[in-house]
Amino acid sequence: MSITVVGSVAFDSITTPAGRRERCLGGAATYFSLAASYFTPVRVVAVVGDDFTHAEESVFQSRQIDLTGLERTQGKCFFWAGNYLNSLSEAKTEQTDLNVFADFNPRIPSSYQDTRFLFLANIDPVLQLRVRQSLPDAKLVCGDTMNYWINDHRDALLKVLAHLDVLLINDTEARLLSGESNPVRAARKVLALGPKAVVVKHGEYGATAYLSSGLFDAADADALVFRAPALPLDEVVDPTGAGDSFAGGFFGYIASQPEFTPAVLRRALFYGSVMGSFTVERFGTERLQQLTRDAIDARFTALRQLTHLDLHSHS
Ligand code: AMP
Repeated sequence: MSITVVGSVAFDSITTPAGRRERCLGGAATYFSLAASYFTPVRVVAVVGDDFTHAEESVFQSRQIDLTGLERTQGKCFFWAGNYLNSLSEAKTEQTDLNVFADFNPRIPSSYQDTRFLFLANIDPVLQLRVRQSLPDAKLVCGDTMNYWINDHRDALLKVLAHLDVLLINDTEARLLSGESNPVRAARKVLALGPKAVVVKHGEYGATAYLSSGLFDAADADALVFRAPALPLDEVVDPTGAGDSFAGGFFGYIASQPEFTPAVLRRALFYGSVMGSFTVERFGTERLQQLTRDAIDARFTALRQLTHLDLHSHS
């Protein structure tokens, strides 16, 4: 089943302790769609300027990502510059130029109308809601957001949360959104705002899913919290896009399955973690462009083994 994603397609300039890259292909929708494309077909809704050339387009084409919903307009693509010299856990934003993104009014092609799986990447919540409402047949909707929208556009964001099945956020965003520093109480408060599940990402420490009791008619409370580890890596080259790649692996796996069940959600959390771990190994989308499903599944197995506990083995 195809996923439709709406979000940024951008150029990023990135500085990390491993070096610097100027104007590499980035954006939340880019990382998400590349990661998800290893699991299921992906359709993009985004806007780019005339600096988006055949070279960038071919990155999407080589993963068979549908660009019918990619609007091309005069001007420059969204541009973001960030550096991680102080901390690999959080980017310091050096520059954000909205460019063509400033007037982005997502248009959904008629060929996307049958969308069942919708990912609302980190954009203005007013636009997220508009896209959600233009795809009424979407049966599973996941969304992302960031500090800026939580702090300065809270009312619009709250309207979107009521329409989400799964919200993906990081620890800092969960604290900001809920006003709670305890992670479990924070997640509970976020669930009370509308989403049926919240996946809280802990960067290099993995991610935790908190489910509302109505999601799968879960009988016992233990089924309502599940944690996936992150793979311990000896070098992180560039953390940019790890969250969006996590989302792509998570939602891509869910969309590839015949049914959405608790077991599928658990495996999806592991696939999210796997895709995030690949992304940070190289700058930008370099690593995501050259993966194979076999390499992904090998890492999925390694991640399972990382926390496997055998009660019957004596060795
Ligand atoms: P992540 O590291 O997963 O949070 O996502 C990084 C990507 O988000 C980069 O490729 C940026 O181009 C993109 N990005 C940064 N700021 C924004 C923003 N305000 N709106 C949309 N996308 C953004």
